[in-house]
Amino acid sequence: MKPSPLVYHRPTSVEEACKVLAEVGHEGKVLAGGQSLVPMLSMRLAAPANLIDITAIPKLDEITSSSEAGVTFGALVTHADLAANDGAFAAQPLLRRGLHHVAHATIRNRGTTLGSIVHADPSAEMPAVLLLLGGSVQVRSVRGTRTIAAEELFLGPLESSVEPDEVAVSVTVPAAEPGVGTAIDEIARRHGDYALVGVVAQVRVVDEVVTEARAAYISAGEFGEVIDFTEILAGASAVDESDPPWRALAESARERVETDADIHATARYRSQLVAALTSRVVFNAAQDALHSAERN
Ligand SMILES: Cc1cc2nc3c(=O)[nH]c(=O)nc-3n(C[C@H](O)[C@H](O)[C@H](O)COP(=O)(O)OP(=O)(O)OC[C@H]3O[C@@H](n4cnc5c(N)ncnc54)[C@H](O)[C@@H]3O)c2cc1C
Repeated sequence: MKPSPLVYHRPTSVEEACKVLAEVGHEGKVLAGGQSLVPMLSMRLAAPANLIDITAIPKLDEITSSSEAGVTFGALVTHADLAANDGAFAAQPLLRRGLHHVAHATIRNRGTTLGSIVHADPSAEMPAVLLLLGGSVQVRSVRGTRTIAAEELFLGPLESSVEPDEVAVSVTVPAAEPGVGTAIDEIARRHGDYALVGVVAQVRVVDEVVTEARAAYISAGEFGEVIDFTEILAGASAVDESDPPWRALAESARERVETDADIHATARYRSQLVAALTSRVVFNAAQDALHSAERN
């Protein structure tokens, strides 16, 4: 199939893009890497009258990072660019770890991480990473600039709070803190496919004891929610997985994270994956926290 007829715009500045978006309103769609939007256009799941291609706008492909300010990257930074950036990895290792699970190399070479975030797919890794880290997205329109915190960004599956006349220009994620570790893992039919279930976790460890533990889910749970497991895990040994709180964690995750059935997996199988992956990923995040001193 082919996209329905549309007017193609190629602005060369953010201001120009905002002006076009303001003029066309709900009839416009921003095009970044096109890895999600172009298939949707071709299948006519989206049929905007105007396509605003932002790829000719300079400076949107920049990445800055520091151990104080964290990592900020622009709307044209591809998954591949961000994953390869050593400064970003040093400041916030969960970015590269998350990107390792995103799609296949050809898609990572074109798809942008901010595009994936704004696309708000509950099966995508980077929305969960942004939520867990408490990052934010900067957006521009003719009305001005605003920053949207991750917890206010995801309204529902494929629905973000970026308004139709806004262009998202950059993302910021906080730097990793000493004593805080992160981990991600998922089960997919093939590496690079969307996850049947994935878990991203962040754990704080003080004197080899867990003091905080949170997790966000991919293809499971309420989209946009971060689950706090601190009550279950506070006081658990970060070096001994046989400590009773670690055994209680899997059951707690199974109870708290709802799962749905689709053509790929039953809800029961997804629940089983939630339980097994939560134990594994949260413990791995605790191990990462133990090693964070070497990192920092
Ligand atoms: C076969 C296949 C497998 C994939 N597997 C995975 C996977 O395992 N995990 C995963 O996370 N993703 C996966 N993807 C999706 C991929 O990561 C996309 O790159 C990403 O979802 C969207 O980024 P993009 O730059 O291509 O955005 P586009 O396709 O250009 O846009 C996507 C949506 O976001 C909007 N948008 C994009 N940028 C902006 C902006 N700056 N401001 C405002 N709106 C914007 C667009 O209007 C559109 O609605 C897969 C894609 C394919 C085709």
